[in-house]
Amino acid sequence: MKDRKIVDPDLETNGAIIKALVEEMKGIGLRVLERHGITDLSDSRWYPMQAVLDSIAEIAEYSGQATLNALGRRVVEVVKFPAHVNSLDSALASLDSMSRQVHRGSGVGYWSYESTGAQSRRLTCSSPFPCDLTFGLVQALSEVRAPGGVKPVVTHETDPPCRDTGGRSCCYRVEW
Ligand SMILES: [Zn+2]
Repeated sequence: MKDRKIVDPDLETNGAIIKALVEEMKGIGLRVLERHGITDLSDSRWYPMQAVLDSIAEIAEYSGQATLNALGRRVVEVVKFPAHVNSLDSALASLDSMSRQVHRGSGVGYWSYESTGAQSRRLTCSSPFPCDLTFGLVQALSEVRAPGGVKPVVTHETDPPCRDTGGRSCCYRVEW
């Protein structure tokens, strides 16, 4: 496994996130998770983030970037946003608190949100998940929450450098 991402040993992720992975990958996902010690999946349980990241890295190694993107998209379907999050803007602004709800322990990273125009936002993400996964998550969340008929465009800014090439955070621009 190349470039193994190491996180704090107490960092855990909720079973709901892992279920997204299994829903996308089916049996292969279950087998990979099991190899990394993750069994008995439940939304009410917490699992070591390191094992989750190792499983995702293994999946990415044989199925590539598109699969990571699909995993991120799937996460949007399983995370339950509170009722007041009812627009694209509020959904993007709530990413940090949503991330903290599905993880516990230290080193979860952050999502920051900045308005860069009437229909333009800049998100900065330092999550331990691979960039292709968080990028897919932002794309899907933007599409689901956009006003009817509007197709948001999400781009990865080149500065700062991407986490996947050694950067500390990635910046995504969402425009609609
Ligand atoms: Zn990136």
